[in-house]
Order: sequence, then structure tokens, then C-alpha cells
Amino acid sequence: MSSLYAMIMCAIVAFSAIILNVLLTLFPNYTTYIIVGYLAVLVTGVSYATGYKIYEISTRVKHRKKMIREITKHINPMVIVWDADFSYIDVNDDFTKNLGYTAADLMANKDYLRKVLPADAFQDNLQAIINNRDEEFYATAYDGSKICTIWNTSMIYTTTINKKTTYLLMSIGPNLTETINMKSELMRYSKELAESENKYMLSMELAEIGLMLKEPGGSRFYISEQLQAMLGIEEEFISSADLRALFHPKDRIIFDSFAGSTGNRADDKAGQIHSVEFRAITPDMTYHWFQFRYKTMSNKNVLQASIGGAVIDITKEKEKDSLIEKMAYVDDVTQIFNRNKFMMTGEELLAWTKDDPALDYWLIVIDIDGFHIINDTCGYANGNKLLADVAAIITSCLTEGGFAARIGGDNFAVLIKANGDDELPVEIIKRIQSDILSIHSDSLETHSITCSAGFCKMSDGKDEFSKVLDRAEFALSLSDGTRSSIIRYDSTVHDKIIKGTEIEKDLTKALENNELVLYYQPKIDLTTGIVMGMEALIRWIKPDGRIVPPSEFIPVAESSLLITKISKFVLYEACRQNKKWQDIGLAPVTVSINLTAIDFYQTNVTETIKKALADTGLEPQWLDVELTESLALKDIDHAIQQMNEIKELGVKLSMDDFGTGYSSLSYIQVLPITLLKLDRSFIMYLEEDEISREIVSAVIRIAKSKHIETVAEGIETSGQAQILKQSGCDWAQGYFFGKPMPADQFEEFLRMRQNHPAEV
Ligand code: C2E
Ligand code: MG
Ligand code: MG
Repeated sequence: MSSLYAMIMCAIVAFSAIILNVLLTLFPNYTTYIIVGYLAVLVTGVSYATGYKIYEISTRVKHRKKMIREITKHINPMVIVWDADFSYIDVNDDFTKNLGYTAADLMANKDYLRKVLPADAFQDNLQAIINNRDEEFYATAYDGSKICTIWNTSMIYTTTINKKTTYLLMSIGPNLTETINMKSELMRYSKELAESENKYMLSMELAEIGLMLKEPGGSRFYISEQLQAMLGIEEEFISSADLRALFHPKDRIIFDSFAGSTGNRADDKAGQIHSVEFRAITPDMTYHWFQFRYKTMSNKNVLQASIGGAVIDITKEKEKDSLIEKMAYVDDVTQIFNRNKFMMTGEELLAWTKDDPALDYWLIVIDIDGFHIINDTCGYANGNKLLADVAAIITSCLTEGGFAARIGGDNFAVLIKANGDDELPVEIIKRIQSDILSIHSDSLETHSITCSAGFCKMSDGKDEFSKVLDRAEFALSLSDGTRSSIIRYDSTVHDKIIKGTEIEKDLTKALENNELVLYYQPKIDLTTGIVMGMEALIRWIKPDGRIVPPSEFIPVAESSLLITKISKFVLYEACRQNKKWQDIGLAPVTVSINLTAIDFYQTNVTETIKKALADTGLEPQWLDVELTESLALKDIDHAIQQMNEIKELGVKLSMDDFGTGYSSLSYIQVLPITLLKLDRSFIMYLEEDEISREIVSAVIRIAKSKHIETVAEGIETSGQAQILKQSGCDWAQGYFFGKPMPADQFEEFLRMRQNHPAEV
């Protein structure tokens, strides 16, 4: 280009010199003008030529810039083309896409440039930025985010116009943000992985966890270093057969269960964790217990799946377990199973019998008769020895499928499999009883050992096992202290007792809620028709108004300690009421109360009566205690002693229901009674039955000879009253004279009869 420019310049100068000579020759008079004109033309020509050159250069630069733009416009790395003095800036699409700036933005605001170009670009040190080709640079995008890149800057053009040099630079840089992030993330991961792997190996070692892995399809096992130490293996790989040989012979079946695992079994889903426990020989030549928790790992590339997992030594836990099991399930004294184990076994058996009704199990409960006496007289050590002997006998008498346990104190329980033989329970019990009878020991002194048993069929009920045990224990409880009893459970007896306990509960509440009240029935003097006394008869008035007669609840109360509470209530209430009537001016009468054998024999009845009289202020002669004939005969010596004590208080004593029991007049002679109550059963047929009449008058006569007064119960007709009066009976009690009535009514009755004695 510069040679063409020189040629043009030379041509212009040569051509102008020729024109100048021609003009000077043709117009010699105008030399001055011609020279001045020539110079003017020359200067203009040179100036024009120079201007052309500037024009030509700038056109070329523009052309190049355009070309660069076309080339870089759609390429992927970010491109920024820039003049060193920033008079020109262009960017490609990728630049705008990543950083958000257009070329116009950068041209308009130089601050933006500082955000996208390295500092070197602004320090007149272009070489530095050109050389710096591998330094990460974080450009700040238009939205403030950081984009990481490595600018690769080249000087693409240099030109000097009018002594001014222009440097055109092009920086190319990929958006490395994601890559860099990934890189640092990867570095972090690998660091963590390395750390965790270290930790993993360390924890495996510290926790003494071995790893065992069956090779896919192969017959070798990988054994971790830890497990090698645990099993005394010296290599990392061991053949299936060699590993199996280390297993306890009884546990090799367990080895086969996982070593043969292909991962193809229906129940063996990949990833499912299994756990097995086995014994294997250890370097000290003892068998240890191990637990292998493994899972199947299926691999598409190999036909057979592999299995792998952790192995831990659980010997200590096993030892603890068996000790705990022993402590939890074995009885210390007898070394046979205890109640816990018995209940567990029973529940399992019961579940089986429910599934399979053909299974025929019986439950027997055995109790050593009078064991507490042996314990008290021979000492606990001998008592314990006896328990152990009995346990051994019971165990030896078991038939196949049987199970025995000590379920508490001197109680043993046995489960037997009878296979349809209903006689077997009794046979076994008898065998046990006869073997126990043969226990002889100096330390047991003269005691002969017997035992009683209650038993029931397991399938007798559909409920839980504890109920089955309850039934056998209930049967046993019916032995009531009788030695060598054998009692089979009977549901009808049980039902009655259960009903009784329900009444008992209600009765306890009734006592608390004052639902028990006394009714009074008059006793009339047969000669005068005057009220001589009254019998206090208890009633239970339920909240709904229903009146429960004593026959329904007194027997239930008698089977528990409730009766003493009831009797005490009756005693106090009768005394209090009688005293009250005396205090309000009614003629004094005797009040009779009924006592049971429990009141009479098991409590200090004399003291109680004495205290009741003192507390209520009633004088003793106005109280009469009715005792039945059967009560007195239970323990006649004791009865006589007690009755004498009561009589000494000044209280009267009546023989109730005479004629229903032994009816022996000889007893009357020895019992310190003041009154004989002829039972209603004698009175009922007096009018039509001559024998009844004769018996009644004979009894009255004998009583009189013994200075015992008589009262007839259950008089319902005037005829009965007449006969009794004629027979010399002193008093009369019955509906004919007055039914049992509540206190307020009886008060009215007393008042009325004071002025109008009954007509007999
Ligand atoms: P009990 O001591 O022989 O009382 C007499 C029973 O005969 C009473 O029955 C009375 O209502 C009934 N009776 C009286 N006269 C006649 C009559 O003319 N005809 C008929 N059919 N019956 C008559 P109750 O009150 O039902 O008492 C029954 C038994 O309950 C009493 O026989 C007594 O043994 C016992 N009892 C009642 N109250 C008490 C009490 O507070 N404590 C105790 N331990 N037993 C009581
Ligand atoms: Mg009575
Ligand atoms: Mg009676």
C-alpha cells in the first residue's frame, strides 16, 4: 500500500513539474502567479493524498472490526473486543447472555468495564493482560452475580494515525462458573469421602465389626482385616468350604442359608437386610457367637447375586441373654421354670389348641398341704429343700409334652398333653401325690407331706391363658384345707361364687352409702297381748327402692369379712333405736339381734356387745342375742364359754330356729340360753297336724322345766296363736301380730299396742 501511495505522490509531483514548465514557457510575464499557483496546487495535492490515506486506514479498521464481529457473534465463549483507550468496545452474544451487558452499555458507562475486565486493562500495561492467560477472573454481571472466566487476551490490530497508535484487543473467555463450582464441590466431596472412609475404617475397627462379602457367582468370600483377626483367617479371600468349616457343626446349616443365597428367592428382594446368628471357632479355639447382618446385592452383569454385610461378635450378649433368661424364667429355689415362663408357654400352647382343636392339654395346679406349718416349724431352709424335692417329683411324673413350673409359694403348675385321655390328669396327680407322700426326712420331723390339686382342660374356655390358670386355681381353692384333694374345675360352682363376689362388691358400697336398714318385728306376750320385744331384721334398700331380703346377701357376707361389719352395724343400730324409744317414753322392750358363727367365733363378740351397750346407753337386759342351733354345735365348748360371757353382761340369749338342726333337747340343757325360738316349720301345721302339736307342747314343757322361756316364730293365724297359748308358749312372733316394719312404723305400732294389747 505504501509503494502505491509513493508512486501516486511521485506521479503528482512529476506531472505538476511538467505543467509548471509549460506554463512558465507560455506565460513568462506571469511567472510569479504561475509559481504561486503551482505551489498551491502542490500543497492541495499532497494534502488530498494524505487525507485519502487516513480515510483508507480507518475504513480498513472498520472493516476488520466488522469481520471480527461477524466471526465472534455466535460463538460460545464470551468475547469482548476493545480499544486500549476504550474508544471502541464490542461484545458477542454469549458475553451479553452471561454478563448481561451490551456493547452500548459498556461504551456508555466505563464503570461497567471495570467489572468485566481485569485491572491490568486499565493500567496501561497491555502486555500484562496479554500474558496473563490462566488466571481466574470473576466478572460482575449486570445483575450483580459473579461469573467466573479466564480471559485470553490478544492484540489483534495496531495502527498509528497522526502519530497516535491504536491497539485493538480481543479477550475471549468461557463461562467457568458452573465448572468451578463443580470442581470445588468435587473437591469438598472427595475430601469428605476420604475423611469418612477413614472414619469408617476406624469405626469398624473400634467397634470390632468385620465385613464379609461373597463374590458374585464365585465361591470365595472377601473377609475384612477385622474379621480375619476375629476368625483367625490369614488371607483376604477364603473359599466357601474353608469358611464353612469354621462354623459350629450345628450352625453350618445357617452358613448354607446365606452362602447359597442367590438373590433370586421370592422373599429375597435386593437390599433386604437379613440377620443370622451362628457360632464359629476363633483363634483361641473356642466357639464364639457371631451375628451376620447382610443384604443381597444384585448385579446385572453377573449371573449370581452376591451378599455382603457386617459381622460382630455377640458372645458376651449371648451370655448375658442366657443369664437374663435364666433369671427371668427359672425359679431360684427349685431350678424349674417360674411363673413368667409358665404363662408364656401356656399362652403359646393355648394359641395352638385354638388353631388345632385336636390338641388336648390340661392344666394342673398343685399345692403342698399345710406348707406354712412345715415352714414355721422346720425352718425356711427345710421348707426350700421340700419345695425342690416336690419340684423334682412333679417333673419326673410328667408325660411327653408336659411342662412344670413353680408359680409361687408352695404352688406348682403343670401342663400335660393328654391325647384324648381324660383320666390322665388324675393319674398324674395321684402319681405325684403318692411320690410326695414318700418324702421322708429327719428335718421334716413327723410331718407327712401331702398335696392337693385343682385341674381343668385347656380348651374349657375360649379366653386367655390367665383365665385357664384361674379356673384350675379356683378348683384347688375348693379343697378348703382338706388334704390330698383332687378337684376338677366345675363352671356352675364358679358362676355361683362369681355372682357372690359381685354382690359382695355392691354390698361394700351399700354399707358405705347407708343402704342397709333395720326393720323390726314385734314379739307379743301370749298371755297379755302386750309387745314384749322386737326382732331387728336387716334389709338392703337399693337406690331404686328394691328391698333385698337378708337370705340373698347374708350368706355372701358370711363368706367374707363383710359380715362382721354388718353385724356391728346391726348391733349398734338396734341398741341405739331401742334406747331412743325408751328415751321418748315408750314402754321398754327387748330388742333381738341375729349373729352368725363368724361373729361368734372369730371376733371378741362379748367386748363388742359391751362396748355397743356402753356407747348407746342401752341397759343389757333390753338386748337379746339370737344364735342358731347349728352355730352353737360347731364348737360347743367354745360356744358355751362365749355364751356365758355374754350372759354375764346381763344380755339375754335365744336359741333361734329351734327344730331345724339337730333338734336335740339334750343340747338345750347344756347351753346357757334364756329363750328358745320354735322354728316356723313346727308352727305351720299346728292346726292340722297333731304330731306337730305334741312336739311343740313337749318342747315347751321341757324348756319350762329348765326355766327357759319359749317364743314361737311364724305365727300367721289366730288358730296357731290359740294352740300355742294353750300349750304354754310365752311369746309369739309372726305376721299375725305384725310383719317386720321400718323404725318409724314400728314406733307407731308400739304406741298403739301400749294402749290396745293384741287379742290372742
Ligand atoms: P330369723 O332370725 O329366723 O328371722 C325370722 C324370719 O322369719 C324373718 O325373715 C321374718 O321376716 C320371717 N317371718 C317372721 N314371721 C313370719 C311369718 O309369719 N311368716 C313367714 N313366712 N315368715 C315370717 P327375714 O327377715 O327374711 O330374715 C330371714 C333370716 O335372715 C333371719 O331368720 C335371720 O336368720 C337372717 N337375718 C335377718 N336379719 C339378720 C341380721 O341382721 N343379721 C344376721 N346375721 N342375720 C339376719
Ligand atoms: Mg332370728
Ligand atoms: Mg328364726
